[in-house]
Parts: sequence; C-alpha cells; structure tokens
Amino acid sequence: MFRIGTGHDTHRLVAGRPLILGGVLVESDRGTDGHSDGDALTHALADAILGAVCEGDLGVHFPDSDAQWKNADSLQLLARVYWLARERGYHLVNADATIMLERPKLREHIEPMREPLATTLQVDLSCVSVKAKTGEGLDAVGRGEAVTVDAVVLLQQS
Ligand SMILES: [Zn+2]
Repeated sequence: MFRIGTGHDTHRLVAGRPLILGGVLVESDRGTDGHSDGDALTHALADAILGAVCEGDLGVHFPDSDAQWKNADSLQLLARVYWLARERGYHLVNADATIMLERPKLREHIEPMREPLATTLQVDLSCVSVKAKTGEGLDAVGRGEAVTVDAVVLLQQS
C-alpha cells in the first residue's frame, strides 16, 4: 500500500530573522518571518507527509495561536509528524523538494540540508532529494521577498 502526498510552504523574507532551511542556518541578510523557526523546507515536507496519511496540515497540529510552537525547531515538528505516519504503519520511501529562493545561492547548503532531514525521517540519504531554483527576478521570490518550497513524498505501509 503506497500513499503519496504534496506539501507547499511560503514564508516572507525580512531583515533581522535567521534563514533556516532543512534545519540548516543559511547565511543571509534576510530570514523567514513566521511563528516557528520559519523552516519552509521542513514545513513543506511535513505537510506532504500529513497529506499522504490524510491528516490535515501543520496548522491543524501545531497552531500559530499555541505559544509552545513559537520559535519551535521545525525538525522536531517533522519528527512528530513522521511518528504519526509511523503509528499508522507507514514509512517513507522517498521525498523530493524544490526550494524557490532568489538569494543567496543554495548549492553548497543542499547536502547539509539533506542529512538532518534523512536522519529525522529515518531513511538513507539517497531517499531525500532537495533542489533549489531562483525566481528568475520575477514575482515575490524573484524580488527576494519570499521563499517557497514544494515537496512530494511517497509512503509505504509495511
Ligand atoms: Zn512554514
């Protein structure tokens, strides 16, 4: 039994906030606005897993209104979401995500991002793909105002 899920997340980029993606702090003059640590990559993956097991989205499980998730470590949120899937007998087959960010260039940060994600999701590094693109100077991403991530996961019931 296979289940597929998609996730999408956007965060506004503002001065004076850290830019964290996949649990990795990326050096940048702007970071993500948001209630938790604003880790759009981890949020999109968590939403994809929730989608695959038909469990709503991150906002349902970790509401903005709840102070305990303020500045939360998103890898821990992802771990809790994955535990929910594991409880239903599912494990991750693979995950694929695309980050849309104008700057800085993420090439050197991709491998360090994959490692904590693979560890959190209890899979081999070869099962977690992270790609990065720019907005080509267009729209909110292209103007450097936002980071957007799309993710897809495949789960299998074992
Ligand atoms: Zn988010």
